[in-house]
Amino acid sequence: VRPEPVGPDHLVLERVPGQDQAVAFLRQAAGRPHHAYLLAGPEGCGKQLAARAFAAALLCDGGGCGECRDCRLALAERHPNMFVVEPEGRDIHVDTIRSEVWHPAYRTAPEPGRKVFVIREADRLNPAAADTLLKVLEEPPADAVIVLLSARPDELPETVVSRCHVVTFQPLAEDFVASTLVGEGTDPPAAALAARLSGGNLGRARRLAAPGGLSFRDVGVDALGRATADPAGALDAAELVLAAAESYRKGLRDDLEAELAPFLDERGRPEEAYRGAIRRLEERHKRRVKRAERDFVDWVLLSISAVLRDRVVVAVGGGDHLVINLDMGAASRPDAVGSARATGAIEEARAALAEDLNLNPRLVLERAFLQLADLAA
Ligand SMILES: [Zn+2]
Repeated sequence: VRPEPVGPDHLVLERVPGQDQAVAFLRQAAGRPHHAYLLAGPEGCGKQLAARAFAAALLCDGGGCGECRDCRLALAERHPNMFVVEPEGRDIHVDTIRSEVWHPAYRTAPEPGRKVFVIREADRLNPAAADTLLKVLEEPPADAVIVLLSARPDELPETVVSRCHVVTFQPLAEDFVASTLVGEGTDPPAAALAARLSGGNLGRARRLAAPGGLSFRDVGVDALGRATADPAGALDAAELVLAAAESYRKGLRDDLEAELAPFLDERGRPEEAYRGAIRRLEERHKRRVKRAERDFVDWVLLSISAVLRDRVVVAVGGGDHLVINLDMGAASRPDAVGSARATGAIEEARAALAEDLNLNPRLVLERAFLQLADLAA
């Protein structure tokens, strides 16, 4: 029997794959933390995982053993001393920073020990929210560590960035993402496809490789087929996408029950110590549900856009290494110009929905699919 590994290799921060430099920096920092960090790097490169592991390292007496209560709660973002902020709608509002960062920063921690604040997509802080955060960064409470995450750090106010230690995360290579998935038990062709579709985003690749993970692409392919059949099919296609988006939203309800279960007593009531964590989980969930249908519609449109892009690649004689949807055969009569125009229509619809949250998705989808029908005719 080999002895248990001793040394830093077992620490939770070591579980962040493919980011050796950032991890080494954070492991050092956890010993004597500065008051603020900015984790900067593209979507899906491990910033969130690293932020959770860093929080665990800051809250655990063993520097992030990964096993104790503090670690388990921090890794699940449920530690009472851990405050997680993310955009509501498009922005992070000043009220959120006031109630979730400013107030708790200057109060006694819910449990003995440090307080850790994690601000996701920090580039979405609106100016008032950034100002309030800046006040905390200028007079940091001794027992608080603030961790900002951003894929667009250049969009953060310089005043905020200059008060943070910047930790840079590298984009993950496609091969690395694929081999990570294979290491986690995904079969190689599915891992290669998920890695390609994810664009180097490991979290997204995992979701894509999971059972049902490609359902939005199935919806996209189905909608594209209908829309290009005839104009009546375009309206069917919009209906199909919206119905799938609604059922996706309904499915999220079960997720919340599973997330809350560990905090409830035998009678299904919240345990006192976890009230804060439960309230935050419920609020985050409410926001997720609120944008679930829009998110799903965007994934479907993105998958249609990728299929159309592949048709352009094939039509102009591009090789397999340039195709995104590795598992799908080429279209029978690839038409570069038509497919490129269709991609434009789909991308326009995505931009419109992202830009204006009050737009009716049905109208946007119908217009885009009618354009596709026209182009196919
Ligand atoms: Zn621990």
